[in-house]
Amino acid sequence: MKIILLGAPGAGKGTVAKLLTEYDGSVQISTGDIIRGAVKSGTKLGMQAKTYMDAGDLVPDELIMEIMKERLAEPNCRQRFILDGFPRTIPQAQALKGLMEELKIRLDFVVSLEVPRDVILDRLTTRRTCANSDCQEIYNIKSNPPLPDGTCIKCGSPTIQRDDETEAAIQHRLETYAKKTSPLIEFYQKEGLLKEFTSLNSKDTVAAIKKQLS
Ligand code: AMP
Repeated sequence: MKIILLGAPGAGKGTVAKLLTEYDGSVQISTGDIIRGAVKSGTKLGMQAKTYMDAGDLVPDELIMEIMKERLAEPNCRQRFILDGFPRTIPQAQALKGLMEELKIRLDFVVSLEVPRDVILDRLTTRRTCANSDCQEIYNIKSNPPLPDGTCIKCGSPTIQRDDETEAAIQHRLETYAKKTSPLIEFYQKEGLLKEFTSLNSKDTVAAIKKQLS
């Protein structure tokens, strides 16, 4: 499949993307994960992006497009991919459209995950992430907890609450989403690519997306 996952922070894009990769081996491309990896390894990109990310702001479009041009040109992306967290602004969506035309790639469709705001707030404040940048498994202290001592079930590293998941940063990220990312819904509607899914349970959402694909 070649799809884009759109949705507010906490809408479950990462979880849905991971489940979909198991379906047909598509590559999950998460700009958030790429940036967190770069921050962890202390690269120039990581240092440039960290301040924006920690404050719950979007990383500038030019920096994101630099990352994505390289990533999408990699051979394993030509066949199948799930874009998770990209594009997030109208300029990114326009640049992606040009890039797709250049690389002769056609999207299947754009998935918009619709989740009520109170569900999103609850999910984000209870989310924990594995601190190991090679793992980054996501947990939820209510519905999918790590081990009782707070360590990751997969790799044994500590799990943490991300700096951008404090209450103030979350509020700011949701405002940024409403202002900068939600206009993409209309953008892709006009392109004839948008499909909306009410998403309270990731497994049900994945089943509905698979149905659309087939
Ligand atoms: P995520 O894990 O997708 O919620 O992303 C975490 C953070 O990474 C965001 O709050 C932004 O600071 C940054 N980020 C990820 N993807 C993008 C993007 N496409 N454009 C700008 N910033 C991004």
